Amino acid sequence: MEMIVKVTSATPAAPLSDLLRLPLGLDIWEVKPDHLILRAPEAPIERLTQMGYGVEPMQPVAEHLSAFATAEAIAGYHSAETLEQDLRQLAESHPEIAELREIGRSVENRPIWALRIGDRKGSQDKLLFMGCHHAREWIAVEVPFRLARELVEQAADPKIAGWLSTGEIWVAPMVNPDGHEHCRTRERLWRKNRRRNPDGSIGVDPNRNYGYMWGTLNVPTSSQVPSDETYVGPRAFSEPETRAVRDLVAREMFRGVVTYHSYSQLILYPWGYTDKPVIDSQDREGMIGLANQMRDLMKGVHGVVYTAQQSSALYPTAGDTTDWTYGEYGIPSFTIELRPKSHLEGGFILPPSQIEPTWEENRPAAFRFIEQLLEPAAG
Ligand SMILES: [Zn+2]
Repeated sequence: MEMIVKVTSATPAAPLSDLLRLPLGLDIWEVKPDHLILRAPEAPIERLTQMGYGVEPMQPVAEHLSAFATAEAIAGYHSAETLEQDLRQLAESHPEIAELREIGRSVENRPIWALRIGDRKGSQDKLLFMGCHHAREWIAVEVPFRLARELVEQAADPKIAGWLSTGEIWVAPMVNPDGHEHCRTRERLWRKNRRRNPDGSIGVDPNRNYGYMWGTLNVPTSSQVPSDETYVGPRAFSEPETRAVRDLVAREMFRGVVTYHSYSQLILYPWGYTDKPVIDSQDREGMIGLANQMRDLMKGVHGVVYTAQQSSALYPTAGDTTDWTYGEYGIPSFTIELRPKSHLEGGFILPPSQIEPTWEENRPAAFRFIEQLLEPAAG
C-alpha cells in the first residue's frame, strides 16, 4: 500500500541529508530540519528502515486523497480548458492592454498560453510570472491567473496604469497543461509532464529540464532515473514545455521572473544546484532583500508565514527554472512555494476555500516585485 510517511534520522550513521543525496526513487513532499515527509510504496519504506532511518507511517495515500480530493475541491480550480476560456475573455474584453499568446505546445499538443499585459507601445521593461510546472500544484495556476485578472481589470488604478504604460507583464499560469489534465482526471498526485520515456515510464520533470547546470546531479530531488518523480529528461530542453519558456524568455528579455509552485510556504532564490551562494554580491543582496520584503508583505495580510531562503537549502535541484533564468540572464528569479505548510492541511490538494486568501497574501508580494523591477526610481 502506498503511504505518506515521516522519516527521521534514527542514528548518526544515517543522517537525513544522505537521503537527499542517494538515488532512491522517493517522492519527497516536505523537508524539515528534523524530518522528511514522503510518499512511497512498501518496498522503499522497508529499505529505509533497513538503512537505519526512523520511519513513521502517517496515513495511507488513498485516505489522504479521499479526505482532500473531493468533488468540491476539483470544481474550485481551473482546468486547462477553463483557464484558456478565462484568459481569452480577459484579452477580448480589454484588447487595448491584454493579448493572449500561445507560446508553444505540450507533448500532447495542448497550447501553452501567456497573457501579455501592457499597452501596445512596446517596451523594454518586461516581467514574467509563471505557474504550474508541476501538475498537482493547482494553487500555482490560481495565483498567477488572479494576478493577470487584477492587472487587467484594475488597469485604471494609477499604480497599475503606470506599470502598464511603461512596461509589460507576461503571465503564463499553466506551463504543464498535459500533466495538469492527467492529474485532474486520472491521478491527483501526478507531477511531471506526459512524455513517454524509452523505459516505458511516463514523464519528465519540467522544473529539472532547463539548461543551466542541467544533469549535474543525480539525487532523489533531481534524478536521472526516468521513472522518478524528478526525472531531469534525456537532455536539457528535451521537452516542448520548457522549450516554450526558453524561447519566450530569449525573445522578450524579461527583467525578472517569478514561478509559482506548491507547497511549503517558501520564497526561494538561486542557487538550487549548489549550496554556494550567488557570487555577485549586488545580485545576491538584491534577491535576498526582495525575498525578505515579499515574505514580510505576505505575513502582513493574514499572518501566514513564508520562509525566504536559498533554493538548495530546501533540497538540491539541477536544471530548475530560476537557476536557468538567473544563470543565463542574470535576472532576479524567484520560486514561490504557496500554501499550505504541511500535508496535514492537504499538501498538494489545497482546499478551495484557501484559494482566495492565498492570492490575497501573494498580491502585495507580486506587486512589490513589479514595483521594484519596473519603476526605475524604485529600482
Ligand atoms: Zn513544484
